Amino acid sequence: MSDEKAESQVKRYYRKRIGLFQLLEKIKLWPSRQGILHGIKTIEKFGDQVRITTHCNESFMANNSRTSRAARALRNKWFAKACPVCVVPEWKLKKYSTTRFSRHYGSTLSNENSILNVAAK
Ligand SMILES: [Zn+2]
Repeated sequence: MSDEKAESQVKRYYRKRIGLFQLLEKIKLWPSRQGILHGIKTIEKFGDQVRITTHCNESFMANNSRTSRAARALRNKWFAKACPVCVVPEWKLKKYSTTRFSRHYGSTLSNENSILNVAAK
């Protein structure tokens, strides 16, 4: 079996235009400006922003923008390594690495039970 075939069995597709919050809630990973991938412990909604707390106890606000640095970094997988303090499990990194983003195909996650969708109403 070729590598490509093996990978296609576990690929997940999300829309490129997916909201950042939905993506964060699903993936539970945060790419820092330094190129380090952190595990997200909690996401709390405050109006148009969310407060994200990582497992290494960093806390910060983020805007729900599809074009923000974080959204692009997540879609394009711009990270050098996983945070050693967050201890992101291997299966989670693997799952993320096989996730693909497509303009025309994939889940928008909008129909799923999301605290963020509920809070937005
Ligand atoms: Zn961390």
